[in-house]
Amino acid sequence: MWFRQDLRISDNPALFEASQKGTILPIFILDDETPGIFKMGGASRWWLHHSLQSLDASLDHSLNLYLGTPQDIIMMLIKNHPVEAVYWNRCYEPWHLKTSSTIKTLLKKQGIVAKSFNGSLLWEPHEVLKNDGTPYKVFTPYYNRVLLTADQVRIPLNRPPKLSLKKDQKSLSLLKLNLMPSIPWFKTIENTWSVGEKAAHTRLDNFLHQGLLGYKSGRDFPGQNHISRLSPHLHFGEISPNQVWYKTKEHKNQAQKDAEHFLRELVWREFSSYLLYYHPDLPRVNFQKKFDSFPWLVSKQNLALWQQGKTGYPLVDAGMRELWQTGFMHNRVRMVVASFLIKNLLIDWRKGEAWFWDCLVDADLANNSASWQWVAGSGADAAPYFRIFNPITQGEKFDPEGLYTRQFVPELKHMPSKYLYKPWAAPQDVLKKAKVVLGKTYPHPIIDISMSRERALEAFKHLVV
Ligand code: FAD
Repeated sequence: MWFRQDLRISDNPALFEASQKGTILPIFILDDETPGIFKMGGASRWWLHHSLQSLDASLDHSLNLYLGTPQDIIMMLIKNHPVEAVYWNRCYEPWHLKTSSTIKTLLKKQGIVAKSFNGSLLWEPHEVLKNDGTPYKVFTPYYNRVLLTADQVRIPLNRPPKLSLKKDQKSLSLLKLNLMPSIPWFKTIENTWSVGEKAAHTRLDNFLHQGLLGYKSGRDFPGQNHISRLSPHLHFGEISPNQVWYKTKEHKNQAQKDAEHFLRELVWREFSSYLLYYHPDLPRVNFQKKFDSFPWLVSKQNLALWQQGKTGYPLVDAGMRELWQTGFMHNRVRMVVASFLIKNLLIDWRKGEAWFWDCLVDADLANNSASWQWVAGSGADAAPYFRIFNPITQGEKFDPEGLYTRQFVPELKHMPSKYLYKPWAAPQDVLKKAKVVLGKTYPHPIIDISMSRERALEAFKHLVV
């Protein structure tokens, strides 16, 4: 049983099937070679370390760990063990698709059964096509289409009733995978999260009981507790979307509109994987070709100030610091910081995508690239380019009391809400009372919002269609 992004025991179709055939050699391979520039980032590695630890405990400490390319490791294993079949759940990253197909061919040549399953999507990309047989490019018709078969979503499987497991003496220890970051920032991440299958279910239960009611409107307010924070658990497959889908439906009576909206977000996750499947270069190449001629600016300094949360725009800074401190950022704020980087600073969306890739515990190739292209306006079903989020009004609207912003930008803790998102406009006595010295305790804005907005719109006008 080859585990990848399905680090769970329950509702694991590949594991379930394998468990019915005989003794299992459960394996996980850390492959830092095949993904190239999309080698797993620092925060994800922290998560993976703990997730593997948790899976290993659920498997009676029989999980076998290896470093290398899956081809090499699996070929080595079939030489050393009497393997009759290899089971895995499908992943949709381009390198996973390629590797799995190569391995399937190699195994079949040697007379070994190779069986893959759908363990991470409600609908696989090949199942959802337009009437003319081509894939959807726009979310709403895709969503309407999948809803037609919503009652056929696979019902989650139980844990396999019996697991007979084998430990390979050549398995590496978890420490040998060297997943824990060497810089101390993960301490605050550690205080934020509980990792693993059990923690994923606890998180879902807590959300359904305490956060779901009010989700539809509350999900936009980063200071409120109306989001599930399930994304890293879903990315690593500690919980399946099927489990989330059916568990949420049980709560539909109490909060119908909220439950529907939450499940719709889960379908956005499906749609991202769908786009990536049909457009494997989505993480690097503008979906809309006209953006290839966009005059991006190269400013290492501005990029660094954005990464460090020192732009002088409190909501942007709060988001970037939340990311650094917790490995997560609220979705509303992700949109604001991304728009600021791309449109106000005119920095290529791929620079932001790369930073998120390294810092997010939920870094996910499909969701990350589709979302960055969505904000840039270059994506399949993107926000129009001229939709430029204003970090001042976004803060005033979505974090009016500054609960979230004050938490991550404590130097503005005493700023009255009226000036929280534009401290430069505050009179001297207000600044003094709030103990804020602009340029010293909190930065001056690194760019003028109105000027940079006009500059972005002007640049967009000149794109060659
Ligand atoms: P909830 O609101 O509780 O939603 C439940 C689930 O639905 C999420 O866990 C997620 O799996 C899915 N979902 C929600 N919103 C989206 C969305 N807009 N697109 C796709 N799926 C969604 N999400 C990632 O999982 N990994 C990423 O690397 C990632 N990068 C992003 C980059 C940018 C610039 C932006 C704007 C968004 C990105 N997202 C990414 C999407 C979204 O921000 C997160 O999925 C969401 O914030 C996770 O929080 P949650 O689990 O509390 O979401």
